[in-house]
Amino acid sequence: MTAELNTALRSHLLRPDGDEDICLATYSVSTGARRVTHLIDDVLLPGREDRIVHGNATIRGEYVLREATAAAAAGRGLAILHSHPRGRGWQQLSRYDHDAERSYATLVREVTGLPLIGLTLAGGDGAWSARSWDTTEPTWSESVRVVGGRLEVSWNDALVPKPAAQAAQARTVSAWGEAAQADMARLKVLVVGVGSVGLDVALRLAASGVQHVGVMDADVVERRNLDRLVGATRWDARLRRRKVAVAARLARRAATADEFTVEQHAFSLCTQQGVAAALDYDVIFSCVDRPWPRAVLSSIAYADLIPVIDGGLDLAPHPQGGILRASARFQTVVPGNPCLACSRQINMSEVTLERQGLLDNPGYLEQAGRQSQDGAPNVAAFSATVIAGLLEQFVVLTAARRWEVGPPIQHIFSLQTRRTLEYTTGSACSMEGRLLAGDRRVSLVG
Ligand SMILES: [Zn+2]
Repeated sequence: MTAELNTALRSHLLRPDGDEDICLATYSVSTGARRVTHLIDDVLLPGREDRIVHGNATIRGEYVLREATAAAAAGRGLAILHSHPRGRGWQQLSRYDHDAERSYATLVREVTGLPLIGLTLAGGDGAWSARSWDTTEPTWSESVRVVGGRLEVSWNDALVPKPAAQAAQARTVSAWGEAAQADMARLKVLVVGVGSVGLDVALRLAASGVQHVGVMDADVVERRNLDRLVGATRWDARLRRRKVAVAARLARRAATADEFTVEQHAFSLCTQQGVAAALDYDVIFSCVDRPWPRAVLSSIAYADLIPVIDGGLDLAPHPQGGILRASARFQTVVPGNPCLACSRQINMSEVTLERQGLLDNPGYLEQAGRQSQDGAPNVAAFSATVIAGLLEQFVVLTAARRWEVGPPIQHIFSLQTRRTLEYTTGSACSMEGRLLAGDRRVSLVG
């Protein structure tokens, strides 16, 4: 759910009198290759007659049937949410709560065609827990994610255990504490594009203790990459090894987690397969310089509520030698921040050209007086600034806990300064307008 929706739910469910409360909400489905996410998209606060608060809150059948019928008409599922005002951490279902949810599960499934989702809010520390009523017994979720300027995840420790602290991570843990480390380490983090920037990002995530890193890139290593792919060898280039294989090898070597997995996705994001794989992750790094995959990631950030950390380098040589212009950009795409199109990091007409194959067409490029992006100037020294900016966004988003990601940041090399860029959402932005669409997202692939 979004941070905004979390705030609205908290103000209803955590009552000043300390009693439990209850309400309904609708959800959309986001289907990854292996994971299904339920995106809570609208809170349906109860009317006066819809529930009884008496220490334990009881919901009335008319309210459930009315909202299930409306949800079905809108193509949504229905969730039932209640609070444990003094609870802390992932909450179990009491016999009373179990029987109450189960009594509505069949009705809701029959009316909406989707399982009833049950959520419990622990008032003591704000943790959520969730289950899906696919049958007459609940299936527990792995986590509940709240996405805003911070990513706050409630973990189901029984399914995704807290990783054991490692001696190798002592100085990292001392920076933000064991709880923040355990939360960050359990995130599934995808790096799309493991070139000069993405490769190093993947290694530093592994070194920091992240247990599940995914790398996605369809390219192979070539000689011309070796001035920026630190750790790749001449042999990698000679054998034309896949960039994801090289990234996986180096990430395993850098990893400090006791149980570390790196998953290789040797295909393009701009395919059904690529999008499905991406939807299994909790945070995505956009380390590609092409407009099309960036547009796909930007749309996923809103439609599927997965934070996308994007960055890139803009560098132009001076005709008489030296550098004319160089700057780096980094930003986190989450609801409340502008998308990559509104913040002018990508141009949607370029996305169309790339989808038509024209950005790789020498005839078109010559006619349009453009250069192929494949040969764009790039240096390892400046990539380091982009890497630092992206990882800084990740720490603010996941581990710092007291800060929030803000507007896009630009680092200008000639002035050796950075500034925030004030962009606002365009009135007809199709990406931000599809917030929480899930599988009803506008597909930019295929
Ligand atoms: Zn936008």
